[in-house]
Amino acid sequence: MNEFIGRVFSFERSTFPESSALFGRLTKQGQSPTALMISCADSRVVPEQIMQADPGDLFVCRNAGNIVPPFATMNGGVSSTVEYAVMALNVSDIIICGHSDCGAMKALSKPETLEGMPNVAAWLRHGSAASHIVDSCMGDLEDGDRVRALSLENVIAQLNNLRTHPSVSAAMARGDLALHGWFVDIHEGVVLGLDGETGQFRPLREGDELPVAHHPQNRHAYAEAAE
Ligand SMILES: [Zn+2]
Repeated sequence: MNEFIGRVFSFERSTFPESSALFGRLTKQGQSPTALMISCADSRVVPEQIMQADPGDLFVCRNAGNIVPPFATMNGGVSSTVEYAVMALNVSDIIICGHSDCGAMKALSKPETLEGMPNVAAWLRHGSAASHIVDSCMGDLEDGDRVRALSLENVIAQLNNLRTHPSVSAAMARGDLALHGWFVDIHEGVVLGLDGETGQFRPLREGDELPVAHHPQNRHAYAEAAE
């Protein structure tokens, strides 16, 4: 057994006993996380560490490229996780979190590198809007700059996909759900947040207002049209 797998004994012996009161409460009362975080599966991006979250704080979904397939194209884990988080857990915030040096975004930038990986290639097609935006608006960018631009645009593209899910669009229309787009610069240890008003990412700073990609809308087209 490798050393890493063996660390589970340390969890049983030390970590769990130290948090036994918390786990006892969570077991008795059930979970009520306030946010869902959809991040890349990259081993260097750990949502709970970034958010300084304890057990019970955060509902998490991770996959290559922090992708959210649009509603109805496929029945899969991400769609089900989103639906459960919104409908059953009533999360108030969903965060889509990309990061620097992302292998999935490098592959999206150079699809020819995905020979022999048909599933990854098909999965990353959900990021096509991002790559088309970069190609048509920032065609002169190369290498690292192109991947960074693609990673940022991919967060926005996945937020757009997220809004196609009925559970999400309804919760937003009720004014119960906000959407956030984050980008973790793993070289600098800095987290950027998408400001939906400006369309730009800016560092999350203590004391500053938290940038929000899509505020809860609290809107009803019928009522507005009748006024
Ligand atoms: Zn990644």
